[in-house]
Amino acid sequence: MKLMYLGTAAAEGVPAVFCRCKMCAYARKVKGKEVRTRSGALIDGVLKIDFPADAYMQELKYDLDYSLLQHVLITHTHEDHYCVKEFGNRRVPFSQTPKTEPPLTVYGSRPGYEMIKGELEEGVLEYKVLTPYEPVKIMDYTVTPFPAVHAVRSNIDPLFYVIEKGEEALLYAHDTDEFTNEHLSHMKGKKFSIVSLDCTNGVLDLDYIGHMGIKDNLLMRDKLLAVGAADENTIFVANHFSHNGLVPHEEMEKRLPGFLVSYDGMIVETGNSGK
Ligand SMILES: [Zn+2]
Ligand SMILES: [Zn+2]
Ligand SMILES: [Zn+2]
Repeated sequence: MKLMYLGTAAAEGVPAVFCRCKMCAYARKVKGKEVRTRSGALIDGVLKIDFPADAYMQELKYDLDYSLLQHVLITHTHEDHYCVKEFGNRRVPFSQTPKTEPPLTVYGSRPGYEMIKGELEEGVLEYKVLTPYEPVKIMDYTVTPFPAVHAVRSNIDPLFYVIEKGEEALLYAHDTDEFTNEHLSHMKGKKFSIVSLDCTNGVLDLDYIGHMGIKDNLLMRDKLLAVGAADENTIFVANHFSHNGLVPHEEMEKRLPGFLVSYDGMIVETGNSGK
């Protein structure tokens, strides 16, 4: 499995759009790994996760071709993950992709459908509503949505995903808080090759509900190891950072021993695709 991180920031980006805090000033100056755009990833070049407005800039930057894309998983309807209007551009005349091509199917919870339904067109742009813990088959992947602990006072029904292909499994858990016992019981019996964890709070130890930081990431690794869903071969990644809890990339690596710290453009490869 080849996981490419296209965007690795929380909603406001790093540097944040209107911010001149120390971290944002540093990121503006140093650039490179310190600059983070809005959240999204791409699996094996064919399965896209999330689609913020920045996805267009990422398509250009990484020489991708979204006209070939047939499947997009959406975690939730926050604007840094789901730019509904952009999907409307899949239709004529905004795109000249012929109708003989397979449609682009967007997958997510029902609130995502409610937002996009005015843009849908059969055979061109479709939406499939997912139900937590009910796996769906997408190409060679088995995708299991989990209910995320995020925006808990809203009714946006956020999801995070377990994506399996053959012997490999990716846990992509962003915009969620610590795993619940229910989550862990559904992870039992799986063996993750890659675990990507929400690290929005970074070095800050905040107790609001909806995101994680370094401390929680280290704890979640212990929990996954304890239930047997991870082992010494599992690659752990911290991702989805806010400027508020962020320190420079190298410093973040020191604070997360055994983790990869994501950056825009980072590729993690496992199994056959790693050869
Ligand atoms: Zn987010
Ligand atoms: Zn800032
Ligand atoms: Zn969110």
